Amino acid sequence: MKQWRNWAGNVRCEPERWWEPEGEADVAELLREAQRQGRKVRIVGSGHSFTPLGEAEEWLVRLPRMTGLVQLDESARTVTVRAGTTLRELGGRLLERGWAMENLGDIDRQTIGGAVGTGTHGTGSGFGSLSTQVTAIRAVLGNGRIAEVSEGDTGEKQEMFKALQVSFGTIGIMTELTLRIVPAERMRLASFRSTLEETLERLEEYRSGNRHFEFFWFPYSGGTQVKTINPTDAPVSKRGRWKEWSAYAVENGLFWGMSEACRIAPRLSAGISRLSARFVPVSDEVGRGPRLFVTPRHVKFMEMEYSVPAAAMRPVLLEMKRLLERRRYSVHFPIECRYVKGDDMWLSPAYGRDSAYIALHMYKGMPYEPYFRDMEQILLAYDGRPHWGKWHSRTAAQLAGMYPKWKDAARIREAADPRGVLMNRYVARLISPTAR
Ligand SMILES: Cc1cc2nc3c(=O)[nH]c(=O)nc-3n(C[C@H](O)[C@H](O)[C@H](O)COP(=O)(O)OP(=O)(O)OC[C@H]3O[C@@H](n4cnc5c(N)ncnc54)[C@H](O)[C@@H]3O)c2cc1C
Repeated sequence: MKQWRNWAGNVRCEPERWWEPEGEADVAELLREAQRQGRKVRIVGSGHSFTPLGEAEEWLVRLPRMTGLVQLDESARTVTVRAGTTLRELGGRLLERGWAMENLGDIDRQTIGGAVGTGTHGTGSGFGSLSTQVTAIRAVLGNGRIAEVSEGDTGEKQEMFKALQVSFGTIGIMTELTLRIVPAERMRLASFRSTLEETLERLEEYRSGNRHFEFFWFPYSGGTQVKTINPTDAPVSKRGRWKEWSAYAVENGLFWGMSEACRIAPRLSAGISRLSARFVPVSDEVGRGPRLFVTPRHVKFMEMEYSVPAAAMRPVLLEMKRLLERRRYSVHFPIECRYVKGDDMWLSPAYGRDSAYIALHMYKGMPYEPYFRDMEQILLAYDGRPHWGKWHSRTAAQLAGMYPKWKDAARIREAADPRGVLMNRYVARLISPTAR
């Protein structure tokens, strides 16, 4: 049987049936058929989630035939796009016409349906996650009915909108999304070396003084890489082929080689982390559109990421530093630190609070659980909520207490998918306190 696997390769399944619908009517028909036959269905995007969200035990749905722009409305500053479109394709199409998404994460390989489904985010204290850019959604619910909801709705439709925005394929299959867009400005990306001490000292200044600010802290070194992105009038930089290739080779080829060395001899990890901190790229580049936000990620890893209240960034990192020094985990990947504006989407990790997002990575093939589990305890002590697409150990009973609107989301989900068609064992453990 044909196998599906996620990007990291840690989730694999052999669905009994693969569906690639051509349009909304096909999606509705397949969901009704699943109800009739009592089958379970999972919708997947590009498979870039680290958790078994996409593990289809029976039927798998992908949307490679439901891609492309439906409408770009310049006066409303919105774009309507089919849910299977990748962020990369969307970014390219928008840029051709002088528009851009207001923010992006590290990569643009995800589909818009998948990215929105887990609350994928970039950085910038004035910007919510990508799901907050959504102004309207068309979806086929688990019961086969069509829902068309938008941010201006009231009553039941508004509830459906708030529940659907971050719902990881548990309420319905989104077919079309309308997103807010902005004119594509010229932006300057600055990357420089700093120390953890100085970065933490200047957190507020960096956070409020830049449109987008993030930093990477290299474990066992006092070093950080600080990255900022801001609008500029400066001309677009010419990126020579050689410069582009060498940046790619260092970030992927060289880092892959060092990662393999750590996998074979884990005791090298701390030294390699310190070495990486010394060779942080120092650069200043002007560009337009998504190019500045995203980086090619060919070195595979596992990741855990939590959101905590924004003010907790500093104390969490200081506790992590102490624990790293005590336990000496074999890890050489940096810890990525970003800010996201609070929102009102019911199951968004940034619900009701401006958030700091702290992400830990481990090279593929190296043991990640002891490191992630210990660090997770620190994040939980600061009211952490896990990213839905990344590793975490939480299940429904614990997650329910993190989300004020948990019960409302469950009510909407049960009405939209009363037979639990859009379910797998992992998702059941996430949302149902009685599932095992
Ligand atoms: C290298 C790498 C870098 C990453 N960088 C970031 C980052 O910077 N910021 C960040 O927040 N995350 C990041 N992620 C995580 C990633 O953005 C999320 O896991 C995202 O959900 C993946 O999108 P996808 O298209 O691959 O969807 P999948 O992983 O295939 O699916 C994600 C969820 O969305 C649901 N879904 C997919 N399509 C639909 C649809 N049409 N309707 C309803 N539900 C749907 C699925 O059922 C599933 O529950 C990264 C992941 C990787 C591997």
